[in-house]
Amino acid sequence: MIIVMQAEAAQSDLEHVVARVEGLGLRPHVIVGTERTVVAVVGDERNAQMSGLETLPGVASVLPILAPYKVASLEVQSEPTVVQAGPLVVGGGRVGVIAGPCSVESREQIVQTARAVKEAGALGLRGGAFKPRTSPYSFQGLKEQGLELLAEAREATGLAIVTEVVSPEDVPLVARYADVLQVGARNMQNYRLLEAVGRTRVPVLLKRGPAATVEELLLAAEYILDAGNRQVMLCERGIRTFETHTRFTLPLATVPWLHARTHLPVVVDPSHGTGHANLVESMAAASVAAGADGLIVEVHPDPKCAASDGGQTLDIPAFRRMMDVCRRVAAAVGRTLG
Ligand code: PEP
Ligand code: MN
Repeated sequence: MIIVMQAEAAQSDLEHVVARVEGLGLRPHVIVGTERTVVAVVGDERNAQMSGLETLPGVASVLPILAPYKVASLEVQSEPTVVQAGPLVVGGGRVGVIAGPCSVESREQIVQTARAVKEAGALGLRGGAFKPRTSPYSFQGLKEQGLELLAEAREATGLAIVTEVVSPEDVPLVARYADVLQVGARNMQNYRLLEAVGRTRVPVLLKRGPAATVEELLLAAEYILDAGNRQVMLCERGIRTFETHTRFTLPLATVPWLHARTHLPVVVDPSHGTGHANLVESMAAASVAAGADGLIVEVHPDPKCAASDGGQTLDIPAFRRMMDVCRRVAAAVGRTLG
């Protein structure tokens, strides 16, 4: 349910509405827009006696929220959410680029990559310290040492650090280092993890599960929003289909579909989405043309020696070329890249 406040409602009217909603055992999310303030009411409405809310002072109207996701819905907030983490801006006409290796491997590797991607125009540095791997025998990441190396790379370049957190217990540790917490595809429906990142105020990049619908992605985002963290980016990273020519199938119709339903920015990952370095530039450009608010791309100084995902990783000259093409596409669709 959405409680729309009158334009001239006083702060005390809003506080009264919030208290009344809490008294019903529901959670109020106050969204202050440029034209109106609304209170999105979420929770189990079955036993709540909600009649009479429309008669409270300062209330203009009370409307149902039709979408199954609530705080993520455009019905509740019509203005796009812009996520900001240090220099990285995602949304609102800015296409933020996050680039870096799949895994943090060494000081030299991460600092060299950070300098190069910054020079090419990226504003975020990705790098996994905690790696969720399909096989328990694959490289699992440098863990806390990897986080320390990411912090050194930030020190050297000023880039915003984007790194994955794989379990709720690790959230406080990873949040001490990260500017953006990545929730990986395998964890999209790890609800305790979503709640834990939702309790921080660190922006979150939520990747779509390879077998999840976009509606499930929005409902997963809703867990983070409902826990109080509004800085959420959705990430299309490809889904599993019967196709084998690419590692996953990258459905770019997700981007305009999401923009028609949510105010949250949408980032595309053409690296995992294709699994092949030679397809990344085209799909990055197509993502920008489709309206993506950000890109997350795997880049390594020497991809064939990468500890993980080398086959889909761009080397530095290829990343520069990708940035040149994407910058021109962004300009053609009225956006700025970087
Ligand atoms: C990654 O970003 O390296 C990663 C593991 O991605 P995903 O969760 O999309 O598979
Ligand atoms: Mn990877």
